[in-house]
Parts: sequence; C-alpha cells; structure tokens
Amino acid sequence: MIVTAGSATHVGHVRDGNEDALYCGRRVWAVADGMGGHAAGEVASALAVEAVRRLDEAAEDPDEAAIVGAVEAANAAVLRYARRHARAWGLATTLVGAALVADGDEERLCVFNVGDSRAYRLAHGHLAQVSVDHSEVEELRSLGLITAAEARRHPLRNVVTRCVGMPQAPDVDTWLVSLRPGERLLLCSDGLTGEVSDAAIGLTLLAEPDPQAAADRLVEAALAAGGSDNVTVIVLDAGASDER
Ligand code: CA
Repeated sequence: MIVTAGSATHVGHVRDGNEDALYCGRRVWAVADGMGGHAAGEVASALAVEAVRRLDEAAEDPDEAAIVGAVEAANAAVLRYARRHARAWGLATTLVGAALVADGDEERLCVFNVGDSRAYRLAHGHLAQVSVDHSEVEELRSLGLITAAEARRHPLRNVVTRCVGMPQAPDVDTWLVSLRPGERLLLCSDGLTGEVSDAAIGLTLLAEPDPQAAADRLVEAALAAGGSDNVTVIVLDAGASDER
C-alpha cells in the first residue's frame, strides 16, 4: 500500500502557543494534543511524537506490540520530565496515530489511540470515526445521557479519562483498518472536531482530492468556525502499490 499524507497545524485564534504536535513519517503518522498549560503541553506532545518517530525509524516493521511499546515509552518519557521539572507537573498529551503493519499477505493500517484526539475513515463517500474518545463526555454520550452535539459544548468536554502521562501507562486502543485505493484516514486534534461537525469534515474530504489541500481546508474551516483551540490534521490517502 502506498500512503500519501497531507498535514496542517495552526495555533488558532485564542491560544498563545500551539501545544499540538504531529508526525508524518514513512510508515507511521500521529497527532498529539498536549495538556498542562504554557510550555508543559508542548513538551508532552513533542515527547509523544518523538516516541512515534523512533517507532517509525526502528529496523523492524511495526506491529501492535511495538506500537503499544512506543506509547508506553512516551508515557514514561512524560513522567520522567514531570519528575525533573516541578513546574511542569501534570503535563500530559493525547496521542492518536496509524502505522502500516503486515497482516498476512496484506498491508493494513493499525490505528492506535489514547485520549480524545480522533481517527476517522472515509470510505464509499461516508466518514466514520474509527477511534473511541477517552473522555468524560464520550462516557455520557455512550450511556445516552447527552447527544454528540451536546458533547461538543459540554463543560466537561476537555476532561480526558486516558492520556499519555498517567502514573500507570494507559491502555492503548488499537484497530486494524484496511484502506483501499481512494479511501482516506483522517487524524486530528479536538481543535478540529470541537469546531467543525463530522458532516462538514466529510464534505470537505470528499470535495478536495489532494491530501495536503484537504488538510489545509480542514484547518481553515476550524479557524473560520472560531479557532478557539490549537488545530491539527493529517490526511492519509491510500493508493495501489503500482499506482506510481
Ligand atoms: Ca486541544
């Protein structure tokens, strides 16, 4: 499988700094949304992205165990930093990504997630969320107590139930996704999904064939809708191996 990536990130209209980070590599891609305020969130997301980079640059092809290991390494790095820098105590980050993995004779994407950044798949003209948010509002939504629209405006919307930087390494959710030529995977921070509806995200991805232009347009849409948070997106396009 040949994967072509486009990516974009923006500080938004309200925040002083961009605590999001992204990684676009050979066979691994990821978005991290740092928390902890000021420089701390930027450090946490950068440490997570660094662990993902090492996974991508390892000699072995990634598999699920290596992916979980990379998230655990990120967790340990964030905790180590917190211990050495008292003012950064409480720093943490989300981490959502995808890695090309061998599955028998096929190559698939292993989507991995901790926190409330998201992975979506666009197939047959339809956008569907692959990842499950680790957040208070997702727990309320899954119980039927609030709707998805209410979740986006809920006072607890920023409270995550799992993150990278927890005293005990978080459970990592993984999904094996087949991406056929013409289909897309979107990785994004909540600076996109907090501003732009899934329906509008899907329409933008359908309207813009070039992955870089699509990533740029999604960030522009989040800024136009208010840009109240840092916003980061990666668009991954699957092509046939013999396409180029
Ligand atoms: Ca955010």
